[in-house]
Amino acid sequence: MATARTVVVGAGIVGLCSAYELFKRGVEVVVLDRSTTFESASCGNAGLFSIGHYPLTKPGASLRGIRWMFDSASPLWIRPSLSPHLLRWLWTFHCHCNQAHLERCVRTLCAMGWRTIQALESMLDAESIDCLYKRSGWMDLILDGRNLDAAAQEGRVLAQHGYRTDRISGAELRRRDGAYREEVAGAIHYLDSAIIHPAKLVRGLADALRRRGVEIRMGASVSSLERDPAGRCVGARLEGGEVVRGETTVLSAGIWSDELAASIGVQVPMQPARGYHIQLDGVAQLPLTGGVMHETFVAYNPMGTQLRLAGTLEIAPVGRPWMRKRMNALMTGARKYLEGIDRGRITEEWAGYRPCTADGMPVIGFVPGTPGLYVATGHAMMGLMLGPVTGQIVAADVCGEPTTIDPEVLQCVRPGR
Ligand SMILES: Cc1cc2nc3c(=O)[nH]c(=O)nc-3n(C[C@H](O)[C@H](O)[C@H](O)COP(=O)(O)OP(=O)(O)OC[C@H]3O[C@@H](n4cnc5c(N)ncnc54)[C@H](O)[C@@H]3O)c2cc1C
Repeated sequence: MATARTVVVGAGIVGLCSAYELFKRGVEVVVLDRSTTFESASCGNAGLFSIGHYPLTKPGASLRGIRWMFDSASPLWIRPSLSPHLLRWLWTFHCHCNQAHLERCVRTLCAMGWRTIQALESMLDAESIDCLYKRSGWMDLILDGRNLDAAAQEGRVLAQHGYRTDRISGAELRRRDGAYREEVAGAIHYLDSAIIHPAKLVRGLADALRRRGVEIRMGASVSSLERDPAGRCVGARLEGGEVVRGETTVLSAGIWSDELAASIGVQVPMQPARGYHIQLDGVAQLPLTGGVMHETFVAYNPMGTQLRLAGTLEIAPVGRPWMRKRMNALMTGARKYLEGIDRGRITEEWAGYRPCTADGMPVIGFVPGTPGLYVATGHAMMGLMLGPVTGQIVAADVCGEPTTIDPEVLQCVRPGR
């Protein structure tokens, strides 16, 4: 069924996957992005396709954040501020850091996990995208043996949703892969997940869309959304004044979705959580798969001949200069886990923003009270992994197909006052 033209704002993983799924359903799509290159969080992330991953709102996460507030090199750092927007967000976040909410989220995320990996694999196959995709699982690497049981418990919860995990001792880990140091006490291997080169995925998908005739306009900066007198969103206005019209506008501009939605009185309350990565060349022994270092929250991913270290979560307004000590914390945080990384040469340093909602879950759905506007954002630390399934949900909703995802957990956009 061909549906009228859709304007997608943002060519990150969420926007491009949405465009892809809409195109497959015969919808005419135009994608707008203000950048002239691909450089957003969708390209700079750790590249872990960690299906079933827990959201940020784990019990205790908010209190730990407050404790770490006084150490700006800690894995989670909130820049102290009395901004009412930040205080409201922190309070709502704190209220969601409980077991009941976590269980609801895990149910939804686990269901989305299976769908997203199928959607990704069929897209990679159909479009022959080469992005170093490897279904090798990911490792939760544990230094302190006392943390192994709690980590294994997370694995048991995911097992109830059909995800396979393997608890591995330090010795066994090193027997399988010489990249890990003696100090590592063990690991939980999440076998169904995958690793990927995120920038190659994003660029490969954009190329595939262009080959298929989808219009992707880079350097097209949206200054506001456009509304007709009846209150319907009818497209996006570019800086310079041009209005790009569509029957539906999909707002998938990452953290910047917040201010664009506000341009027509819709609230999508989020906080930017900056993350960092370094790319290392010449590491003597690259690990066979990627993962996360449990105690320091640094993610690692072998990408061809290089190793990416990524992580740290810094809640701070967009636009402040990035912090050297947080960049350095990646190397410090990885040193005890991985062999020989000090011999590696840093070839790239990058920082970018995750769009974080206060309940830890993405915002995906039509906006009540503003017909024609669809929001798909707020994926926090899971956007790469949830991108393909989000694209399916967006396209199904825009084309009026029945949705199969729990709307209570995802669709929380509020019209502005
Ligand atoms: C260090 C780090 C590590 C991460 N690791 C992982 C991981 O291993 N696995 C995982 O699943 N997720 C990970 N994430 C999270 C993931 O990267 C994000 O959730 C995801 O990239 C969000 O995608 P997006 O498309 O919503 O937004 P973005 O990637 O931010 O894309 C938004 C796009 O909108 C465009 N835009 C913004 N404003 C405008 C405007 N006014 N006009 C036009 N265009 C505009 C931007 O230029 C950008 O291209 C990580 C994030 C970070 C920072």
